[in-house]
Amino acid sequence: MIHHDVIVVGGGLSGLRAAIEAKRAGVDVAILSQVHPCRSHSGAAQGGINAALGNHPDGADDTWEKHAFDTTKGGDYLVDQDAAIQMAKDAIGIIYEMDHWGCLFSRFNDGRIAQRPFGGAGFPRCCYGLDKTGHYLLHTLVEQAYRLQIKMYVEQYVAKLIVHDGVCQGVVTYDMIHGGFESFTANAVVIATGGAGRTYSNSTNSIISTGSGMFMAYHAGVPLKDMEFVQFHPTGLFTTNILMTEGARGEGGYLVNGLGERFMEKYAPKFMELAPRDITARSIQTEINEGRGVNGQGYVHLDLRHLGAEKILERLPGIRDLAIHFEGVDPIEEPIPVVPSQHYWMGGIDTNVDGATPMPGLYAAGECACVSVHGANRLGGNSLLETIVFGRRAGADVVRYLETLTDKRPNARTAFATAQLMEQMIDELGAKNGTENVYVLRAEMTETMKEHYGLFRDEATMKAGIEKLLSIKERVKNVGLRWTGRVFNVDMIRTVEFEGMVDLALCVAEGALARTESRGAHFRTDHNTRDDVNWLKHTLAYYRPDTPGPRLDAKPVTLGPFELQERKY
Ligand SMILES: Cc1cc2nc3c(=O)[nH]c(=O)nc-3n(C[C@H](O)[C@H](O)[C@H](O)COP(=O)(O)OP(=O)(O)OC[C@H]3O[C@@H](n4cnc5c(N)ncnc54)[C@H](O)[C@@H]3O)c2cc1C
Repeated sequence: MIHHDVIVVGGGLSGLRAAIEAKRAGVDVAILSQVHPCRSHSGAAQGGINAALGNHPDGADDTWEKHAFDTTKGGDYLVDQDAAIQMAKDAIGIIYEMDHWGCLFSRFNDGRIAQRPFGGAGFPRCCYGLDKTGHYLLHTLVEQAYRLQIKMYVEQYVAKLIVHDGVCQGVVTYDMIHGGFESFTANAVVIATGGAGRTYSNSTNSIISTGSGMFMAYHAGVPLKDMEFVQFHPTGLFTTNILMTEGARGEGGYLVNGLGERFMEKYAPKFMELAPRDITARSIQTEINEGRGVNGQGYVHLDLRHLGAEKILERLPGIRDLAIHFEGVDPIEEPIPVVPSQHYWMGGIDTNVDGATPMPGLYAAGECACVSVHGANRLGGNSLLETIVFGRRAGADVVRYLETLTDKRPNARTAFATAQLMEQMIDELGAKNGTENVYVLRAEMTETMKEHYGLFRDEATMKAGIEKLLSIKERVKNVGLRWTGRVFNVDMIRTVEFEGMVDLALCVAEGALARTESRGAHFRTDHNTRDDVNWLKHTLAYYRPDTPGPRLDAKPVTLGPFELQERKY
């Protein structure tokens, strides 16, 4: 048994930033991560991070109030306005702090941090480092974590929370390198495990974005909020769904259909290609569904050729490489075939603006959390921002929480018993002669999510999807372990986490079916308008051990200075 005052699960931007804040306050903090922090999905982020610096010649009048307004409107007013205001205010200091820590932001000629236009934003406020922003931010925070000598346990798969008398007191991990389960006790745990994109078959996310932190909290009784809101990015590569950043359109790229038309003028005459993602993705899908895809196929073109080789090489070298290697297309010479692809998880573990969940001792930050600053649809560039702003705030609040504790000794018996439970479960899985193959079930589940809970939803399709998910959940009982070795058994991880992924899928499905309106990324063809009278509220999903599928409840949205309007772009 290992003990630290604070355990942070996840070494992406949010986990690193939380750990840095706690460590700077003198707290003994450790990071546990399934992969080395440098390999976290944050490193794949391309386009940029928002802050109203006002550096762009067209953005001199930008303010944090305008940033908060754009965020609220972008989220179709399901955003908690106090949280959006806090994030927009904190953003400016966060960027300069990252700059001072050595983050390689691109610059204007006068030396100030460069900014580019991004979707749904009234001003060019997206700060970036080429099209590799996540990589630069992540490496900057990893350096800071090393500098502060934060203890990192890498290749530790956190499998369960240790909960004693309703208080979180640590985690049980599968130690991939040594094989076996270990309990880590702590006085507070911060979950920072990223999104759950891999519950969809058409995702831009890393293979490890399976939502494990979300279902661990859910299984421990913590509610998940607004899970029906799943973002589809307008431009993933046609054959692989690998992301082509919104920055490509921010730099002036066009979306073109099979008739050669810049079709966005029909859907968002003012913002055109830089309308928010929900609107742009639905517009692309409408073009495809109505037969105006390129060559009658299921894609449209992202055309960058008019930007010229120099600008593409200078500002978008990363996506050019990806397009060449994964689609066989050089954007300097040819337009890129793109389709809407699952990209971001607006919902997640219910937290307040300081990352605290309803369970004492348990915090969450980053994509796994729902504060909520994104509401029904996240704006591009606001997620990297959320990770650092709320990672930092969670780290600071954990320190305050520790000061309130009179007894700082986690219950060793509970910790030991939780680890034993995991050992027992693996033994049982290993002994089972499974008749079902977990990878077949996984493919069926992810395809169900894509087909039944995508850009356009309706009651009949969603009900049919729930039937499929329930049958998959039943069949999970007949899955066994194909390989029982204990060292680096990734098969074991994929098997153990699968049922949790199905539980998350059921939260999306049930939440989407219940919400009889269209708001942001949740669009129902059978209820195609926003219904503020009945649905201006967050969905909460609670785990029920004896019943498949969640118990749904609701929570009011925190309103503020921004009055509800119809969303037009
Ligand atoms: C391709 C791509 C491009 C993007 N571009 C942008 C952009 O330009 N701007 C923007 O604002 N947003 C962007 N986003 C979104 C943004 O990058 C992510 O939402 C954000 O980086 C998530 O950070 P995180 O810290 O929450 O989690 P992650 O960076 O996903 O890190 C999760 C961490 O948790 C660990 N972990 C997970 N499960 C476990 C477990 N069970 N046990 C132990 N450790 C675990 C992992 O090892 C990892 O270290 C992009 C996303 C993608 C996929």
